[in-house]
Amino acid sequence: MLIYDLDLPSLETILKEWNEPAYRAKQIWQGLYQHLYSSPDQFSSLPNSLREKISKEFTFLPFSVRTYLDSSDGSTRKTLFELPDGNLIEAVLMRYGDPADDPQMATSETNRRGAKSRRTLCISTQAGCAMGCVFCATGQLGFKRNLSSGEIVAQVMYYAQLLKEQNETVSNIVFMGMGEPFHNYENVMTSIDRLNDADGYKLGARRMTISTVGLATQIRRFADEHRQVNLAISLHAADDDERLAIMPVNKRYKIDDVIEACKYYIEKTHRRVTFEWALIHGVNDTPEIAQKLASRLKGLLCHVNAIPLNPTEGFHGAATNRQRAQVFVDTLEQAGIPCTIRMRRGIDINAGCGQLAGAESKP
Ligand code: SAH
Ligand code: SF4
Repeated sequence: MLIYDLDLPSLETILKEWNEPAYRAKQIWQGLYQHLYSSPDQFSSLPNSLREKISKEFTFLPFSVRTYLDSSDGSTRKTLFELPDGNLIEAVLMRYGDPADDPQMATSETNRRGAKSRRTLCISTQAGCAMGCVFCATGQLGFKRNLSSGEIVAQVMYYAQLLKEQNETVSNIVFMGMGEPFHNYENVMTSIDRLNDADGYKLGARRMTISTVGLATQIRRFADEHRQVNLAISLHAADDDERLAIMPVNKRYKIDDVIEACKYYIEKTHRRVTFEWALIHGVNDTPEIAQKLASRLKGLLCHVNAIPLNPTEGFHGAATNRQRAQVFVDTLEQAGIPCTIRMRRGIDINAGCGQLAGAESKP
């Protein structure tokens, strides 16, 4: 059993069954989430017999590290994990001194107010993805399976343990790795609650961002649950036919459905929504399209996060150049829609948005 799949009450029940005193569960919990122990022998305050039992009954790392790659400027690390069933997932660590290229910057109040140096993790929620967006490497791979809550948490713990060796901590998490978080709703929310736990890892919900392809039903459910997690919506088109051409999900949820769900979310939570826009040359980057987008988003408490397309093997579109991107952004801004361009990160190690395919990168 993966230890990160348990919540504290379940751990307490197990220890009770083992006839251990009640306080042991909390000791283990703190060892896992506060001291960031990565193996049973580090729990030095526990009796030997209990450590042995823990080691026999629980798994601490649900995957092996197949490989990792550092970007040439050293700011970004991508780790490829292999799950016991052979599926591969990836998680990326990005070190930011300057917030201008941080995927969380646009969405988080705390960050907008100028936190300086950050360690942002981009984690996976599924192996593969069923949504089939044509420009996305994960989408090109197809759906493999959902990750359990513990498998999601373990990606964070892996990096948290690594950063601890350098006296650093994870400051932000974005659910923007492989998979569609709202297609694995329960496990993703459980992982958020676990990472957020005041007796455990204590990462503030406002430091987390979920990015969704726009599953309107789940956006409404998420609004009703009142978590303080930031919400980003991958829109990429302002017209239904154009969106359908690159995002099959538009068959099920039209742009209006998505925007209505966002309105509901904003009414319920008073939180700003981020719309993500991968700028593809000649496809969705003209001033006319920016105008159309602005008129659809008018009056909404929102922000557009534009990022030039990261090239992937299975899609022939090209990235918008800086000049065109600037015109797009200026058009939106002039129409009253706040917008930022995000720089491309980790491109040399295929660790940019939508490039995660669980494949070992070619040299
Ligand atoms: N499934 C979720 C989260 C994972 S994808 C979602 O789609 O939102 C994270 C972000 O990367 C999304 O905004 C997605 O549209 C974007 N993305 C996917 N492929 C990309 C690419 N090749 N270039 C730039 N952004 C991409
Ligand atoms: Fe899935 Fe998101 Fe990629 Fe679309 S962009 S295929 S939803 S991971």
